[in-house]
Amino acid sequence: MVSRSVGSGTMRWYFSPKHQLHDPDREVRAGTPTPGFEVARRAEIIAAELSRDEEFSPGEVHSFDRRVIDQVHDPRMVDWLEEAWAECRPFSEHREIIPDVFRHAGLSIGEGHAREPRDKPMARLGFYSFDSMTPIVEGTYEASRSAVDVALSALDEVLETRGVAYGLCRPPGHHASTAMIGGYCFFNNAAVTAAEMARRLGGPVAIVDVDYHHGNGTQSIFYDRDDVFYASLHGAPSRAFPYFLGYAEESGVGAGAGWNHNVELERGVADDEYLYLLAQITETVHARGVVGVVISLGVDTYMNDPISDLALSLSAYFPAGRLLRELALPTVVVQEGGYDQADLGINVRSFLRGVGGLDRLDQD
Ligand SMILES: [Zn+2]
Repeated sequence: MVSRSVGSGTMRWYFSPKHQLHDPDREVRAGTPTPGFEVARRAEIIAAELSRDEEFSPGEVHSFDRRVIDQVHDPRMVDWLEEAWAECRPFSEHREIIPDVFRHAGLSIGEGHAREPRDKPMARLGFYSFDSMTPIVEGTYEASRSAVDVALSALDEVLETRGVAYGLCRPPGHHASTAMIGGYCFFNNAAVTAAEMARRLGGPVAIVDVDYHHGNGTQSIFYDRDDVFYASLHGAPSRAFPYFLGYAEESGVGAGAGWNHNVELERGVADDEYLYLLAQITETVHARGVVGVVISLGVDTYMNDPISDLALSLSAYFPAGRLLRELALPTVVVQEGGYDQADLGINVRSFLRGVGGLDRLDQD
C-alpha cells in the first residue's frame, strides 16, 4: 500500500508550456558568449519524468493579477521587464539582450538611490541587472509571468488541501530581489508565493531554500520582515555564486532580526552531512512556529552538476524531501536550479515523493 500526500490522493503539480518563450541560446561568462545552462529543456525533462509517474497529477494553471507580483517586486522593475527586450533590441545584433554596464554600489552616494536612466535602454538594463548570465529574449517577460502563475496555482491547491503541491517554475526565481534580476532569475517565484501564503494564512511562513546557490534575492526581500523566515543551506559564498551574500552571520535586521538563517557548505559535502544539516534546519524552522512553508528546490547539489561542487548522490533527494515533510505544514515546492540534465528529472521526482509522503522509488 502506497502512502498518499495529504488531502489529494496524488500529488498535484503545475507546469506551463509558456516557459519555452524564455529560450536564450547563450550567456556571457568571462566575457565569452557560451551556451547557457538554464535552458528550456530542463523543465521539459522534469515534466516528462513526472508525467510517467501516475501518483503525480497535473493541475490547471491560472493567470494571476500582476498586483501579487507588485507586493514583492518594485512595480517600476516589473514595468521595465515588460519593455526591456523591445527597447534594447536595436542595440544588439543577437536575439539575447545582455548588459554591459551595471549599477555598482560605488556609483551611489550614501544610502541614496541611483537614478534610473529611463532614456538609455542599455543603461536601464544594467540598472536592473547584476550579471551577464541572465539574458533577456523576446518572450522572457511572458515566460516569467507564467512561472509566477505556476507557483501561485500550486499555492491555491495547498491552501485548499493543506497538503503539498509542486510548481515546475521556469525561469527560476531565488536570485531576483525587489528591483534586480540575475542568476537566471527575473521574478522571485518563491518570494511572491511566500508573501501571499503568509497574507492568506494570517501568520508567518518559512522559505527553505535547498538550491546549491544562496537565494540572495529571497534573503534581501525579507531581510527586515518577520512574516517570512528564510532558511538556506548552500555553497559558501566565499567560493560560490552569488559571492556577495549568503554568509552565516547574515541573520536579518529590524523586525526581521533572527528571521534569516544561512548555513554555508564546504566543497564536496555528501549525503550524510547534508541530511544532518537539513534536519537541523528543519528543527530551526519548526521552532519559529510558522504556519506554512515554501521550498525553493534546486537539485544542483547533485554530484554531477556542471556548475556546482557538492557530492550528493541519487539517494539523497528522497530523504531530503521526507525531512521537510516532517514539518507537517501546508507546503508549496517551487523549482529553482539543477543543471545535470541526465539525472535532473529523477532527482526532482525523488525529492517530491519524499515531501509528498509517497513511497521511495526502487532505483533510489
Ligand atoms: Zn542554483
